Amino acid sequence: MTTKDSVVRARRLPATEDLTDDDFAGSFWIGKHSADQDLLVFDPNAVDADGEIIALYSLTQHRARSFRRSTLIERIRIITDAEEHARAKEDYEKRDLLRATHEQELEAARAERLERQRAAVVGAHRRYLEALELPYDGVRETDADHRPGRRTKCHSCGIALDDFARAVCVTCDGVLCSCGACACGRAPRR
Ligand SMILES: [Zn+2]
Ligand SMILES: [Zn+2]
Repeated sequence: MTTKDSVVRARRLPATEDLTDDDFAGSFWIGKHSADQDLLVFDPNAVDADGEIIALYSLTQHRARSFRRSTLIERIRIITDAEEHARAKEDYEKRDLLRATHEQELEAARAERLERQRAAVVGAHRRYLEALELPYDGVRETDADHRPGRRTKCHSCGIALDDFARAVCVTCDGVLCSCGACACGRAPRR
């Protein structure tokens, strides 16, 4: 029983150790932030370790993060597990590639979000015309030189028009408000 217990206990022990002031004296280490679990690399060849503020490379945020030396000593546990250390070190060596991939993913997610929002606005536009019993003839992408004319505020919901969906109603040539309204069905000026 004691053998089994001690094995279990040993496994539960985190494979980390305290960070001390000596660790800024020139050795490479990878630590884990106890609050946000970020993996942070201290590379003595890449950073100035003499100051009060120390920059570490974040393997999860793909950028440098700066901390007070005292915060690091308080918050960082150095990873001593050989496998985990090796994996993190490999990621650090590939950091330029990983950062580029990360940025591509962010960009793709952003484009997808915009496309979804645009589809939602076009859907609202169709319902807007339907409610007015006007035909839907489609939308096209706003030209770079499109002039919004004097229509700067949405007559339907009242917000300032910002061409959020980059879409123009084919019938009236008006940009779509995020509520879906175009210039069709706007009360004539008096
Ligand atoms: Zn509107
Ligand atoms: Zn229209």
